[in-house]
Amino acid sequence: MRDQELSLAASVCRYPEWVAPPTYPYPRSYHCQAEKNFENPTQPYRIDEPALSAYTTSMIRILVIEDETEIASFLRRGLSLEGYQVDVAFDGTRGLELAATIDYDLIVLDLMLPGVDGFEVARRLRADSNVPIIMLTARDAVRDRVAGLEAGADDYLVKPFAFEELLARIRAQLRRRQAAQSQDVLRFANLTLDTRSREVRISERRVELTAKEYDLLELFMRHPNQVLTRDIIYDRVWNYDFGGESNILEVYVRYLRQKLEANGEPRLIHTVRSVGYILREE
Ligand code: CA
Repeated sequence: MRDQELSLAASVCRYPEWVAPPTYPYPRSYHCQAEKNFENPTQPYRIDEPALSAYTTSMIRILVIEDETEIASFLRRGLSLEGYQVDVAFDGTRGLELAATIDYDLIVLDLMLPGVDGFEVARRLRADSNVPIIMLTARDAVRDRVAGLEAGADDYLVKPFAFEELLARIRAQLRRRQAAQSQDVLRFANLTLDTRSREVRISERRVELTAKEYDLLELFMRHPNQVLTRDIIYDRVWNYDFGGESNILEVYVRYLRQKLEANGEPRLIHTVRSVGYILREE
């Protein structure tokens, strides 16, 4: 880790003793050393969260909207090392553009942005999305906090914050979202999938799927517009990872396409050559 990033990390950490983890470049997490819990000084300040598996995090996309380039690049690096896919926007307008085109799992949103500020970005995001939003601000006024939450933010973090705390809050939001989603009827284009009854319809037509076909389609529908690698699909649907040697996946994708396109419906499951598949509209 470069000196510049170390000093930046120190400024973002609540306390200045920051060390790069020994397993760099792929640590499970960063640690702010010597953090103290001021509410209870005898206890170290530490949030213990079970780490999400690499498979899980590698499919999670986070958008960071932050105009301070040093903090933005620190967050990009830290979250990437945690296995998240991270995009950064340096102003609200660009952030809204990205959020309109990519289906993010979570947005970290700075309050004080040039042009469209964080309150307005949150309000516009909320107009057509329930993506979790964690707001960052240098201000700790109760009025700002309330305004941020009213604008649609799900959580709020005051700078400077410990990176571990941001991570813990991100995981909490992702878990909440996952729990909410797991009860939902999933929709994509003209497809609907009821996760309780395992009933699948395309337009109004009922589609009969085998258990594995259903699992595969559910995985795609939980990650629309994202490339799913063969390894990830094998891991999630078949619970093993010798995907490179097998053509079971190709066979199942062919079955699914036949069933979903039986009435001439447009293709939704597309091949990404030598990588995997993606669910998207042409
Ligand atoms: Ca700012």
